[in-house]
Amino acid sequence: MSSDLLMSNAYINGQWREAPTRFAVTNPATGDTIADVADLDGDAARDAVAAADAAWPAWRKRSAKERSALLRRWFDAVIAHQEPLARLMTQEQGKPLKESMGEVIYGANFIEYYAEEAKRMAGETLPSHSDDKRLMVMRESIGVVAAITPWNFPLAMITRKVAPALAAGCTVVIKPAEATPLTALALAKLAEDVGLPAGVLNVVTASKPAEIGEVLTTDPRVRKVSFTGSTPVGKKLLEQCAGTVKKASMELGGNAPFIVFDDADLDAAVEGAIASKFRNSGQTCVCTNRLLVQDGVYDAFLNKLAARVSELRIGNGLEGDVDQGPLINAAAMEKVQSHVRDALEHGGRLICGGEPHSLGGTFYQPTVIADVTPEMRVAREETFGPLAPVFRFTDDAEAIAMANATEFGLAAYFYARDYARIWHVMEALEYGMVGINEGILSTELAPFGGIKESGLGREGSRHGLDDYTELKYVCIGGL
Ligand code: NAD
Repeated sequence: MSSDLLMSNAYINGQWREAPTRFAVTNPATGDTIADVADLDGDAARDAVAAADAAWPAWRKRSAKERSALLRRWFDAVIAHQEPLARLMTQEQGKPLKESMGEVIYGANFIEYYAEEAKRMAGETLPSHSDDKRLMVMRESIGVVAAITPWNFPLAMITRKVAPALAAGCTVVIKPAEATPLTALALAKLAEDVGLPAGVLNVVTASKPAEIGEVLTTDPRVRKVSFTGSTPVGKKLLEQCAGTVKKASMELGGNAPFIVFDDADLDAAVEGAIASKFRNSGQTCVCTNRLLVQDGVYDAFLNKLAARVSELRIGNGLEGDVDQGPLINAAAMEKVQSHVRDALEHGGRLICGGEPHSLGGTFYQPTVIADVTPEMRVAREETFGPLAPVFRFTDDAEAIAMANATEFGLAAYFYARDYARIWHVMEALEYGMVGINEGILSTELAPFGGIKESGLGREGSRHGLDDYTELKYVCIGGL
């Protein structure tokens, strides 16, 4: 790792801020401490909000072209540091280095995209209801944005919020996950290096998120909260935002179905399932939580899936060609184990895995369980780990009913070939995103987000800018 990217103090108003107490960031593959990071309190969070608030007037007044040029320089810096950023991410998060390398590019693409989109944030003129009046709509930056992000994508979850916010003329306070603050700080360092003005981007590191969250959701200077994380925390933050009627975007949990119909290309479906289920050790909000497989291809699919799962290489993400790293922490491990136990106790059939991995720590065997039924916990709850539970269905109507039988609505996937079936199923799925014959769908070019209890708002594409702008209607009379 390039040591000049290993920052351990918070970043407020262009200064690297120490704190009387610090918290350890550990490598989940080894348990080693990577850094002791400044542990900020609510007062420091208020300082960050004040800095962002003070920086906002000048930042929003910069021309779109100037903001675009700065974002472009930040993008170039991130790309130039792809490998050190990826190594840092693998150390604090555990994902295989090849996935971290991919995340740096994926995350940087949002900066590039919104550098371009900054120049296209146009308002409109409207036909008037009267000859002596003219009607206009201005599109303006919303103000100070608080971005609260999870540990599973330490870089991309930040750039998906910060890039459109900065493009729109907003200033930002980031509260990264306590498990993965180092990637956030490294991003801030690169932003500082390319000349982002003091106060425009601030990073508040803390081991007690509730205290910081309280400030960010109640301070009236914060105009918008953009959160990615679990549904329970998202609901709490929404409640807290109500007091000052803040705008809020919520990218929350999922319970993605992955449906394999009897006309599917089974080899392609297996590859899609492997990518969707086991990437990031299954710790992805859009990752498959339930595999629904039609009767006629059930056994054939199961056999092919089990064979492919047995080829996955488990290990420290920095060593060799690893496919699956450790889980983030002991609580994540316990959740996976409890879902496996529950499924087996209720009649699930273990096909492979089902135990902690011999590497110890939070390494868990990639696991497949067959004959899973809707009564089992895994049918309702996000496992967030390397467990592939395989359900069985008879016809399209049953598959659709099973897929939609959840309060979540983030991503859904299905494999089929019949043209009419593809249209009907796509239209019937109550989800914000649908992958058809495709297991990976995220890109900065498309709107990412969920419906139902999976969230509010979209990230990516031109729609991703909307969440950081307000419309101002102007009526000019007396003409
Ligand atoms: P989490 O909700 O525990 O934490 C997310 C962030 O919220 C972290 O920064 C955490 O420190 C902070 N936080 C926790 N309690 C808080 C509080 N009381 N006040 C303020 N902030 C608080 O989620 P996690 O375990 O880090 O991430 C996993 C979850 O995130 C999963 O449910 C996953 O589906 C979801 N997720 C969703 C998306 C999406 O785009 N929809 C993307 C990634 C992850």
